[in-house]
Amino acid sequence: MANRTSIIAGNWKMHKTSSETRSFLEALKSAIADFEPNCEIVVAPPFTSIATAVAETDGTRIRVAAQNLHWEDRGAFTGEVSGPMVKEIGCSHVIIGHSERRQYFGETDESVNRKIQAAMRSGLVPIFCLGETLEEREAGKTFDVVKRQLIEGIGKIESPDPDRFVIAYEPVWAIGTGKTATPQQAQEVHEFLRTESAKILGQDFSDRTRILYGGSVKPDNTRSLLNQPDIDGGLVGGASLTVQDFLGIIKEAI
Ligand code: PEP
Repeated sequence: MANRTSIIAGNWKMHKTSSETRSFLEALKSAIADFEPNCEIVVAPPFTSIATAVAETDGTRIRVAAQNLHWEDRGAFTGEVSGPMVKEIGCSHVIIGHSERRQYFGETDESVNRKIQAAMRSGLVPIFCLGETLEEREAGKTFDVVKRQLIEGIGKIESPDPDRFVIAYEPVWAIGTGKTATPQQAQEVHEFLRTESAKILGQDFSDRTRILYGGSVKPDNTRSLLNQPDIDGGLVGGASLTVQDFLGIIKEAI
């Protein structure tokens, strides 16, 4: 089995101004200077704080992600930001298809697929989010839903570099609710996603691509989740907003 380095990624959503970003990263940098984290670390600030985050993390092991991009590289799309813009300002990653984007901003499997292609075209690592709602889980549709999202999301993509592609399984019912999937519930979906992604993009892709879990990850549940064979890290919302919690998660990452 491939040896996959874990990723701990913080999705700040619509939190932290530039000055708040600076203070957070100064504290995080000095904290991680004291030990050698076992994981890759990514933070995803709002667009307006990206330049500050890139400057603050220069020369460190912390990488910066955008939370979204447009599928076109340029054009008459007022209020949107494109892959080349995000790349040039210094992002390495971009979150795509987060459930809040799907729920509140009309993102579909099709637009997610176009955004993944745009990210790859610009040399960004997509963090491709998918996951079922509570209603879908209770109706026994979890595997059908994530399979559809996976096929539609990565279906038309040609030979992605598995080291530069990340999938995040985020059950919608666990995001921001304090309800975490049990390690077993998460593992069975991760294992399924790995098997299905091998059918679409081949065994090597499936073996090497990191699949993160997201949904109320906290320092005290990180280890049991990441101990699962197919869970390669966490996409963290609420607990990425304080240095203490985010650092606690980084320290638990294996
Ligand atoms: C997220 O926003 O991707 C997320 C998982 O949020 P939380 O950790 O707050 O559930």
